[in-house]
Amino acid sequence: MSTPFWGPDFAALQATDPEIAEIVLAELDRQRTGLQLIASENLTSPAVLAALGSTLSNKYAEGYPGRRYYGGCAQVDRAEELAVARARALFGAEHANVQPYSGASANLAAYAAFCQPGDRVLAMDLKQGGHLTHGSRANFSGRWFQAISYPVRPDDELIDYDQIRDLAITYEPRMIIAGATAYPRLIDFPAFREIADEIGAVLMVDAAHFIGLVAAGVIPSPVPHADVVTLTTHKVLRGPRGGMILSRAEHAKALDKAVFPFTQGGPLMHAVAAKAVALKEAATPGFAVYANQVVANARALSQDLAAAGLRPVSGGTDTHLALLDLRPIGVTGAEAESRCEAAHITLNKNAIPYDPEPPMVSSGIRVGSPYVTTQGMTEAEMSVIARLIARAVRAERGTVRGDAELAAVTGEVAELVAQHPAYPERRKS
Ligand SMILES: *Cc1c(COP(=O)(O)O)cnc(C)c1O
Repeated sequence: MSTPFWGPDFAALQATDPEIAEIVLAELDRQRTGLQLIASENLTSPAVLAALGSTLSNKYAEGYPGRRYYGGCAQVDRAEELAVARARALFGAEHANVQPYSGASANLAAYAAFCQPGDRVLAMDLKQGGHLTHGSRANFSGRWFQAISYPVRPDDELIDYDQIRDLAITYEPRMIIAGATAYPRLIDFPAFREIADEIGAVLMVDAAHFIGLVAAGVIPSPVPHADVVTLTTHKVLRGPRGGMILSRAEHAKALDKAVFPFTQGGPLMHAVAAKAVALKEAATPGFAVYANQVVANARALSQDLAAAGLRPVSGGTDTHLALLDLRPIGVTGAEAESRCEAAHITLNKNAIPYDPEPPMVSSGIRVGSPYVTTQGMTEAEMSVIARLIARAVRAERGTVRGDAELAAVTGEVAELVAQHPAYPERRKS
């Protein structure tokens, strides 16, 4: 190529805006020196970051490749065409829209394509693992649509397909949503399809969390069963922050219109290019190895935490995340989150099914393996991490013993992450 790359120039940022430059460095330092166990986070590749920090950000490209409202789109068209072709090939989908700004934007577009305000939508209860966009009153989904929610079974904490079928027959929702943000088990997509067909509903699968495992063939794909699949590109899939929609060809037009011009303006072409890069990476054998290890690590972490007295909701995990009930050790989710944060272990408090505590307190924590697996950690490190979490969550802040314990755990976290650095210093070639 004759043109040299004009991309991320940190010296320019430092010269122009030292305050933001300092924040960027401090955040890199936070990511490098702590354990990142938030199940929805990952560590993107330098190639993805380079595409994100590129001059494609400068280009307006309202519309779709070959049908833009602006001139000069030849190059960004090529980027979007690559992203679409790679998404279709990777997921075996007839149609892909790669423009949604985020998972929530993708979901808004899916609602817009299939539903009218006031329509009934059946989705998983937010308090039991669903997402804000699945009918929360604080979100468009609960304000503009009549949300009916399904829980998990109280005894085994699994999705109860008979109950969903009963709710579907009673309420006849226009759309049924499968998918969740804190459900550690596999979802039976053919069962959802059957229920949707029985009442003539649209089946939307929100695969935001687990689509990276689908890409690698580690868990079953929702694509053959759903009318529409929405996803994020920044969770297990390890791409840039963003959303995407997959569908059957028959829904392509409605979904494309629902994204633009109905719910979005100009697409973020730097992010679209970065999604193309991530999709290329996700199609490699190395990514399949990674995704298998993600699940093996989550299983190991869940088992090791169980051995340390925390109770895995539903008894374990089939995916990249585990939900732990802390009531057996008499600690709340909020306490656990803040104690872990003091020890440089980043995870989130999370409601467990039928949680007696309010959401801001919660009885559980959610842990995920995508980020630490990208760092190269395996089952051996998971058992170390489980022991560190088990110590941190029991350490009472503000007491001499508790603070000493948290300081000790912090030191061991630093040792562990030093052996598996995030963004290791690049060698000069
Ligand atoms: C993360 C997530 C989303 C939203 O993604 P954003 O990019 O944060 O908008 C939607 N649905 C589910 C199930 C998620 O887990």
